[in-house]
Amino acid sequence: MKLSLKDNAYDFLHNSLYFYHLATGVGYPEDYKRYWRFSLVDLVQSMELLFKEVLRQSNEFFIYENIDKPSKTVSVTKALERMKNIIKIDLSHSDETVIRKAIDLRNQILHFELELDMQELSTIYAILFEFIHNFHLNFLNEELHNYIRPEYWEEEALLIEQFRNEFVIYNGVEISNKFAIEIVESQMFPAYTIKGAEYKRVKFGEEVSNDPEWFDSLTHCSDCAVKKSFFHAIGCDSEYCPKCGGQAISCTCEYEELDEEPAS
Ligand SMILES: [Zn+2]
Ligand SMILES: [Zn+2]
Repeated sequence: MKLSLKDNAYDFLHNSLYFYHLATGVGYPEDYKRYWRFSLVDLVQSMELLFKEVLRQSNEFFIYENIDKPSKTVSVTKALERMKNIIKIDLSHSDETVIRKAIDLRNQILHFELELDMQELSTIYAILFEFIHNFHLNFLNEELHNYIRPEYWEEEALLIEQFRNEFVIYNGVEISNKFAIEIVESQMFPAYTIKGAEYKRVKFGEEVSNDPEWFDSLTHCSDCAVKKSFFHAIGCDSEYCPKCGGQAISCTCEYEELDEEPAS
């Protein structure tokens, strides 16, 4: 039996929605939250196959790592690069951030390093699902919905409802949908470079406050809503500059542009 890339992608998507159902369904044991792992891994797998389908439609050899030796197919990261560089697919910065974060989470799950943060997983899942939904429409020219089996329409609807909401629960507080992506993104940049030297960024909770009691009582940043011991969202009013101790967004230190480390 030979499955097409697309059929394969939809199988993984259905698997993912099945685990999503188990992880989020009302009335299931608390312990079923562990299925979040499989729902995310399968969603990333489905995305990878859809990327390959877009490459294949452009040129059947583009799905191979080495086009002169067409045996091994490309990794998801490579597929992403190829879509951008060769077939010039235009992805927004936040789409790319979410894709890379999801790949990173998938790798952590597969290597058992992950301490499960359900809230984070569910936020990433919903954002990634939204991305795949749009990606399918824009680059495969059809509604993803047409390929989702009726028994999963309810999960699909729940997810769509989530990303149409302006607010999401992230780290236990309600924050704007946009900030969720910025907070996720911000965690990838542990340092600022100022005039060639690296300075470790100040996490929320590491600041020296002149009112320590009040400061200790805070659980989330009052501006970007990040939790203690995480980096503030890039551009948050409350982040301190690691060099001069002033407000990072307004001090006169010249920060070099943040460079993303490529996910594997
Ligand atoms: Zn903040
Ligand atoms: Zn500064």
